[in-house]
Amino acid sequence: MSGEERLRSVGLRVTRPRLAVLDVLTGGGHFEVDEVTRLVRDRLDSVSTQAVYDVLGALSRAGLARRIEPAGSPALYEARTGDNHHHVVCRGCGEVADVDCTVGSAPCLDPNTAHGFEVDEAEVTFWGLCPACQSLRGADA
Ligand SMILES: [Zn+2]
Ligand SMILES: [Zn+2]
Repeated sequence: MSGEERLRSVGLRVTRPRLAVLDVLTGGGHFEVDEVTRLVRDRLDSVSTQAVYDVLGALSRAGLARRIEPAGSPALYEARTGDNHHHVVCRGCGEVADVDCTVGSAPCLDPNTAHGFEVDEAEVTFWGLCPACQSLRGADA
């Protein structure tokens, strides 16, 4: 689906900033707002940081983007949505990678007790050291 079609499919008006932000996110990965803004400015002459914030908010609410905020990290946005995937975050450099849902459908973890809640999502963050930070640690030792 093109960016135009994806925006229309969720009832959002097609605008150049929305198309540009969607295009940036669709490249894959997890982006801070500043990064999105920088990459969008490569595509459009001028766009304010506030406009990028607004677009990210609209895309997130419409389900075209997902916002994650690992502890100690700024909010990150990605285009991979709706698959209940998780994240592994490096304690050393903050690198974030996707981890497929451990079971296959949401919620992939069942709490021992849900206190009467109907649970539909489990947001799991795995923490560790990425390969680059592991080899740095090895070099220090
Ligand atoms: Zn690292
Ligand atoms: Zn992700």
